Amino acid sequence: MPGRPTVEKDRGEAQINPTKRTVLEVQNLSINYISEGKPPARAVENVSFTLKEGELIGLVGESGCGKTTLMLSLLRLLPSAGQIVDGKVFFNGKDLTTISEKELNKIRWKEISIVFQGAMNALNPVRTVGDQIAEAITKHMPDFPKDKIQGRVIELLDLVGIAADHKEHYPHQYSGGMRQRAMIAMALACNPQVIIADEPTTALDVMIQAQILELLDNLRKKLGLAIVFVTHDLGVVAEICDKVLVMYGGVTAEYADVDTIYNSARHPYTQELLKAFPDLTKPKKKLSSIPGYPPRLDALPDGCRFAPRCPVAIARCHTEQPMLHKLGDMHIASCHLVEASK
Ligand code: SF4
Repeated sequence: MPGRPTVEKDRGEAQINPTKRTVLEVQNLSINYISEGKPPARAVENVSFTLKEGELIGLVGESGCGKTTLMLSLLRLLPSAGQIVDGKVFFNGKDLTTISEKELNKIRWKEISIVFQGAMNALNPVRTVGDQIAEAITKHMPDFPKDKIQGRVIELLDLVGIAADHKEHYPHQYSGGMRQRAMIAMALACNPQVIIADEPTTALDVMIQAQILELLDNLRKKLGLAIVFVTHDLGVVAEICDKVLVMYGGVTAEYADVDTIYNSARHPYTQELLKAFPDLTKPKKKLSSIPGYPPRLDALPDGCRFAPRCPVAIARCHTEQPMLHKLGDMHIASCHLVEASK
């Protein structure tokens, strides 16, 4: 097994208890970016996954693989050029791609909230952190009793491990890790069922990263939160995720539980990603890298999108796009070689 961190983890009740309810179900979702006079950029194509309460899924891939587009589309927060052209996103059985904006606003933040990338700079520098958390409560829950708001702010700060007296402090008085915790507190303000965390540990040093991961893991166990974790870091995925969706060039390369991904990955891209990950048991082993670059989404290759970089590509790979092949109850991969060896 190449490069898996040695941390063993308790994956929580979600995996032990298969009876957990599905809260989010993405079915065959496709998203294009449309620009006048140009072919559409097929940013996401035919992607599916499910998420149960208390479960944590990692969306993994290089920059430009479509993971952030996919994440934004779940709450229809795409920029104006982005369009969902196919598929469905069910939240508790309701299709978020077709409900009205008014209905969707009842779900945004209250039921599904987001910890955005770049949280370090997302806080308003001239307002106290407590004020900003209070605003998240009043904005999204206007009926919340005014006399209970400060108590709720303290409760939220406590939940993310920040002492109550820091409520009156400004963001510049917080460390990077505390700011990220404050952003998580804001995302928890309305007791959501699902949190989408977009690269929440990027730009933090490894010790703080570990603390934030532990916090998210504890929160999902304590509150039964389902978490979509967007990252390019396989180490992070190994630490806390239950299952993993590996994306390449806007499509699913492989989707499986975390142990299958690390122990029996079948897609050459997943295998190459794992080889590029440092192996703690072989400190002198040279790291490998994947030559070349991810494809431009408005100029995709004809066949498999990974073909120009794939070390085991065959002739067919350059002309025919592979289908998604089911390899087990919870394991799919899109590769011609997988099809041949099934
Ligand atoms: Fe590589 Fe071909 Fe499989 Fe694509 S389909 S990952 S190019 S072997």
